[in-house]
Amino acid sequence: MTKKTKTRKWTRNIAFLMVCSLFLLMTPIHANEQANVMTATVMIDPGHGSIDSGAIAYNGQYEKDLTLEYALKIGADIQALDPTISVIYTRTDDTLQWVNENTTENFEWDDLMGRSNMVNQISPDYFLCLHFNSAEDPSAFGYEAFVRQEDTATQQVYSLMSRKFADLGYSYDLGLMSTANAPLHMVDLTNSASMLLELGFLSNEYDLSLINDPNMKDNLCMAIAQSYVETIHAR
Ligand SMILES: [Zn+2]
Repeated sequence: MTKKTKTRKWTRNIAFLMVCSLFLLMTPIHANEQANVMTATVMIDPGHGSIDSGAIAYNGQYEKDLTLEYALKIGADIQALDPTISVIYTRTDDTLQWVNENTTENFEWDDLMGRSNMVNQISPDYFLCLHFNSAEDPSAFGYEAFVRQEDTATQQVYSLMSRKFADLGYSYDLGLMSTANAPLHMVDLTNSASMLLELGFLSNEYDLSLINDPNMKDNLCMAIAQSYVETIHAR
């Protein structure tokens, strides 16, 4: 073995040791990072379903189909933005597994109870109950949401969302309403940061055209998803 070979071997050993110690050094950091990984659960409830079509748009579309389409898109966007956030849905198709529509006498009540029980069993950090509005007056338009008065987390989600909707040029902010004086089942009887969102009027031509516009649809869902992810990361 020449001196040169010896030195080269020595250098190689040093390099190997350095790589090893670097790896050892990295392991606990990595573990810490794992421990600090932001995880949260967001549950999304597409309003209506099955025999309950919800509002019927002036062009014949059902609210239940739009809530489902939007809910699944919002959930997929949340997971794309942050895969550590788990997304759960009350329904992913047109069946309501918590209520038998053929035998129940109080469909509406049983449906709501089934949904809120499911939320309370899972106890997500955030709960979004998604609806579209309808009014006799076809000129009514805009989006609004309902939240518990003390729920600052959801209030933050809404204010982020409203700003993003304004940037997108989407409809009109009718405001965030507190349920303090008018309790809402899906907001007040669920044990999460809960929001009931009425995303726009299906009875209004302007809102409906935006709701059905493929680009706007993508952008609205992404804006809602971003508002949740940003709120989760900031808390
Ligand atoms: Zn509805």
